[in-house]
Amino acid sequence: MMTTQDILEIKELLDTPKKITITMHRNPDGDAMGSSLGLYHFLKQKGHEVTVISPNEYPEFLAWLPEAEKVVVFEREYDKATPIIKEADIIFTLDFNAFHRTGNSMQPVLEEADTTYIMIDHHQKPDDYANYMFSDPSYGSTCEMIYHFINALGDKSLINATIGTCLYTGIVTDSGSFRFPSTTGTTHRIVAEFIELGVDNSKIHTLLHDNNSYSRIQVLARALHNMKVLPENKTSYTSLSQDELNELGYNKGDTEGVVNYGLSMKGIVFTAFFKENKDEGIIKISFRSKGDFDVNQYARTYFNGGGHINAAGGKSTESLEATIEKFIATLAEVNI
Ligand code: 5GP
Ligand code: MN
Repeated sequence: MMTTQDILEIKELLDTPKKITITMHRNPDGDAMGSSLGLYHFLKQKGHEVTVISPNEYPEFLAWLPEAEKVVVFEREYDKATPIIKEADIIFTLDFNAFHRTGNSMQPVLEEADTTYIMIDHHQKPDDYANYMFSDPSYGSTCEMIYHFINALGDKSLINATIGTCLYTGIVTDSGSFRFPSTTGTTHRIVAEFIELGVDNSKIHTLLHDNNSYSRIQVLARALHNMKVLPENKTSYTSLSQDELNELGYNKGDTEGVVNYGLSMKGIVFTAFFKENKDEGIIKISFRSKGDFDVNQYARTYFNGGGHINAAGGKSTESLEATIEKFIATLAEVNI
């Protein structure tokens, strides 16, 4: 948690109505959107003028989150979003800890903003831009941290079913539905409280997991078809080229969760998923591991990325084939 002094200062800041911006990492996931909207509903109740800004479009499978339609999309609504950032008294940066994670166009606007930054995040190695930091990689989700943050402010009574719905969503998505090792007794106690507040937990799972489009299933099928196994390295990997994505009618969000299938095989402890993005001229890579193999360290060392011990991402500007070759070559250097 933050120091008592930090909490006192933030309480004082929030004592009078403020212009508050909440933002998240580019390509937001359930935790980024859930934590941002959960905090948004809380701060609105406190009487603030609050805007949530996502760097780029959020995925369709999160569009049902309460007031997701009010989220301003920076890269589409540049002229609206830029003054909101510039004029904010406080900017919360949630589920990321370095401005570059918001992308090339939003990063300089954040860098220039004269504001009070509050970071709430569970990734490793935070940058030092924030005036107040609640940064702790032992938490399974930023949503869980928002719950503790609201509690620390003494405002637990303001947590209602709407806030609970947003926070439940990020806890579920970032914990792989309560299965990753960061899931604790406290995680379960928090969601128990949410359910008792009226959060429809079963419905949220349905909205998140039984809401696939045909294209998403086709994309998954191709990724499974392309899967390769390297048994001597306890490693698997798969890839999707831009041509394949186009052919399958790919929509944003369709590859969410694809990487996890590579780990679902017996004896596999490390997996990677390579996705070609011709618009951005990069190969976006997702890494996952079971147990001690630290994919955050791996992604930092070899693929200009980062994340957590068992889930990380990175990128490459080489071709898809060259990137995969490099990946295979690194396996001789690491201890899996
Ligand atoms: P995903 O594979 O789901 O995109 O990302 C897994 C985790 O790694 C997430 O927590 C995400 O924030 C983080 N991550 C993904 N890509 C990058 C990256 O390029 N740089 C850093 N530092 N973290 C990343
Ligand atoms: Mn997260």
